Amino acid sequence: MPSCLFCRISAGEIPAKAIYQDADVVAFEDINPQAPLHCLLIPRKHIATLNDLTPDDAALVGALHYRAAQIARERGYADGGYRTVFNCNADAGQTVFHIHLHLLAGRRLGWPPG
Ligand code: 5GP
Ligand code: ZN
Repeated sequence: MPSCLFCRISAGEIPAKAIYQDADVVAFEDINPQAPLHCLLIPRKHIATLNDLTPDDAALVGALHYRAAQIARERGYADGGYRTVFNCNADAGQTVFHIHLHLLAGRRLGWPPG
């Protein structure tokens, strides 16, 4: 989707600090990090919100979570812990309408989140 920020990052049209990419998934640093590691993992496919997932997208969401765990492990956070978050729509604070999995690590994370 040409007007979508994260589609444009996926296409390389807008720069981002890349962490990982393959044919289906792109991971990059959040521009406004909320923890020492704050990574966003997105599908290359444009999906606006979790509400828009279809059964065919299940493996893709699994791939985002699998890759988040791999990145956390590579960065040394597997044992200490980390958090993954999808925000969906206004009450959760979603601001970019292309699904993205936040991966946060490197500090004690409060619970419940605000
Ligand atoms: P949301 O609030 O939708 O769950 O998260 C959107 C995230 O995207 C925020 O954490 C925000 O800092 C990040 N973000 C917004 N614009 C950009 C950008 O242009 N580049 C990068 N790398 N992150 C962005
Ligand atoms: Zn998009």
